[in-house]
Amino acid sequence: MGVTIEIVPCLKDNYAYVVSRSGDRRALVVDPSEGEPVRAALERLGLELAGILCTHHHHDHVGGNQALLRAFPGIAVFGSRTDATRIPGITDLLDDGDEREHAGFAFRALHVPGHTLGAIAYRLEDAVFTGDTLFVAGCGRLFEGTPAQMHASLNEKLAALPPSTKVYCGHEYTLKNLEFAAHVEPDNEAVRDKLERVRAARARGEPTVPSTIGEERATNPFLRCDAPTIRARMAERGAASEPVAVFAAVRRAKDTFA
Ligand code: ZN
Ligand code: FE
Repeated sequence: MGVTIEIVPCLKDNYAYVVSRSGDRRALVVDPSEGEPVRAALERLGLELAGILCTHHHHDHVGGNQALLRAFPGIAVFGSRTDATRIPGITDLLDDGDEREHAGFAFRALHVPGHTLGAIAYRLEDAVFTGDTLFVAGCGRLFEGTPAQMHASLNEKLAALPPSTKVYCGHEYTLKNLEFAAHVEPDNEAVRDKLERVRAARARGEPTVPSTIGEERATNPFLRCDAPTIRARMAERGAASEPVAVFAAVRRAKDTFA
């Protein structure tokens, strides 16, 4: 038991993840932005690709699908049913709550609309792959969904996972996100502590994933729309006090945060 998750930096600030288990050469990859870095990681680790998990249809998450399908013909490509025509090479259409067993791995799809309408988070053992829905200390922009959808995806689906669940997201945006978190909730000590740790990690060139659901609940402003300081800040900007209105105001504030 127990999977190993290898972080594979891609493009400017994307992460793909190679998932494997000891004693088995078969691997899965989550969100291969590009083929080559993933192929190189598989070779270095002595693994063979058995499947691709796609969190959503954006090119910086599925851009490597075709190259990997050429290198490993016939492998399964998982993604949302909503993205049936938008994810290159998709073979397995997922709905909310679907469970799959593939190549010795068991995982479950959580439909988390907001960034896109078909966004999927993958729960696999004690990890969750959140794509551009939940970032460390942030969340994705609302390209296709509504604030109410994104608020529910984050606060009802993802925040409800066990606090120890490890969070692997699609981009290294953590430092900027935490600077914003400290701006909207300056009295949050957990944010200040994490900002310091993340500054040091980034200065050493280290990734800030994984986080945990527990840490996100303590530091991520998009999971903290009922925090008094955040509500007061957003009230100053004219937001009503109910959680979706606060969430929408925080998302707008982040869009224009320098
Ligand atoms: Zn995206
Ligand atoms: Fe992205």
